[in-house]
Amino acid sequence: MNKLFISTILLLSILFTSFSTGNNRPKYQIRTIVIDAGHGGHDTGCLGSSSQEKHIALSVSLKLGALIEKLFPEVNVIYTRKTDVFIELHERAAIANRNKADLFICIHCNSGPSAAFGAETYVMGLHKTTDNLSVAKRENSSILLEKDYKSKYDGFDPNSPEANIIFSLYQNTFMNQSLNFASLVQKQFEQNAGRFNRGVKQAGFLVLFKTAMPSVLIELGFLTNRTDEKFLTSEKGQDVMANSMLKAFKEYKSDTAKKAGGQYNDDNQDVADSEEEKRLLLRMKRKMILPLKNS
Ligand SMILES: [Zn+2]
Repeated sequence: MNKLFISTILLLSILFTSFSTGNNRPKYQIRTIVIDAGHGGHDTGCLGSSSQEKHIALSVSLKLGALIEKLFPEVNVIYTRKTDVFIELHERAAIANRNKADLFICIHCNSGPSAAFGAETYVMGLHKTTDNLSVAKRENSSILLEKDYKSKYDGFDPNSPEANIIFSLYQNTFMNQSLNFASLVQKQFEQNAGRFNRGVKQAGFLVLFKTAMPSVLIELGFLTNRTDEKFLTSEKGQDVMANSMLKAFKEYKSDTAKKAGGQYNDDNQDVADSEEEKRLLLRMKRKMILPLKNS
């Protein structure tokens, strides 16, 4: 496990270094999007008093997809699932990669203390708070429901300190685009759907980690909060949330088209390259050596 872990770290470091230096990409247009309804089948996701995350995620995903197909017939909309089936996390990301998606949208519902409510959108990155980390751990733990997950993920345990280290090395070429879309989604949730805006956040989500395009994970609201649950289980609530994401997509698409007028410039790894991030990364890299020697 340890040798494997070290080689994984090395491989990831090399991969990310080479990814982040490749600046001469062709003009960027949105042609394909992948909508990923979280969980499914024997993975129910989180539970409300009378609802299951997997059903709400699917319903809102299908609504969003239908709206995009209607408004933007030129965009190819691909779903990771259209029914109540279990899809492994790595396969969700693989679907997006195989189809060379330009945007990957994962749709989930949150769980927490009954007083917690509102919507938040995540991009892949180093968590800044334990709350963010716990959301990522909960969503990542879907892999524990997969058969032979240890061999598939090279011994990866989403709840281990090693997982955090791997995620901490993550520097995404698409960070700025992901953040841009995430902010537009949150703005629409607040302005169009009247939801409490919990903001754009970062944490280590396995499903986002494996994708090679701008990607976000949306937590529509808390099924553990009575008001959020009532809203998210209602047809009207689901329609409003899907419509808000459509508006965000519309804005994002138009931003992207404007940028595509010139060479797309990826000089903006503002989050991953911030001084604070670099310090954290260094600290994590140093820490990484210690547990490996002894265990
Ligand atoms: Zn979820």
